[in-house]
Amino acid sequence: MSVKQELRTRKVVAVTHGEATSDGAGVKMTRLIGSGAQPPLDPFLMLDFFGSERAGDYIGGFPDHPHRGFETVTYMLAGRMRHSDNHGHSGVIEAGDVQWMKAGRGLIHSEMPEQDHGLMRGFQLWINLPAAEKMSSPAYQEFKAARMPVEERDGARVKLIAGAGISGEVGPVRAPHVDAVYFDIELAPGARFRQETPPDHQAFFVLYEGSGFAPGAAGENEIDSLALLTLGPGEEAVLTAGTRGARALLLAGRPLREPIAWSGPFVMNSREELIQAYEDYRAGRF
Ligand code: MN
Repeated sequence: MSVKQELRTRKVVAVTHGEATSDGAGVKMTRLIGSGAQPPLDPFLMLDFFGSERAGDYIGGFPDHPHRGFETVTYMLAGRMRHSDNHGHSGVIEAGDVQWMKAGRGLIHSEMPEQDHGLMRGFQLWINLPAAEKMSSPAYQEFKAARMPVEERDGARVKLIAGAGISGEVGPVRAPHVDAVYFDIELAPGARFRQETPPDHQAFFVLYEGSGFAPGAAGENEIDSLALLTLGPGEEAVLTAGTRGARALLLAGRPLREPIAWSGPFVMNSREELIQAYEDYRAGRF
């Protein structure tokens, strides 16, 4: 007889709703991580959610700007964005696609809308790189929506962008520095999603449509989108959809536990490295 040990459920330790902000050339968005309301959740530095049908909210895009020392992950839910950098890389990311960019020692890129009307919606996540990788060569992982496995679970549709699901399938993105998990989950009304996550990982849900229930210190309370649900220690992440159903991201990753020196588009380990980043940028060494 085999006895399956009960997994310890991760409880919600904080619910935050982000801060309205704008970035690039006036793109309106909600900053869910990386603002005063929700500081970085190591190894995740920042998370922005953008979603608007008004071209004026996004048409300015993100003209040429540098990055050094971390990864940016763009996941589109609707619309089209054109990306290009000073190393000759370019392409279009559209609904359902993901672009996982390792900025490493640096590049200068632009992210511009490839549309002048209609809905533009998606997420951009910044994931920190360990000291040993901050000055590595820039690299891209880009996948069309059709390349990502979708698991049909009980009342749940789970798209695997990074990390392993329950079927043996694995999302195509490789993120070995932090062993990232990145799932996009669609839940029918009342459906329950459960996923084992490594106990040493930071984990959270982003509830971006509908509402959901998640275990907290004082039982389960209904939480409306848009919300970031930071999860405490445990082995399993659990989310139950409310009566309207829910859509959510599950993110998890191993914390780096390194000092963070952050200034604008550069994230390093020390002030000296930040000064070097500005010098290299000004001197055209990106
Ligand atoms: Mn950028």
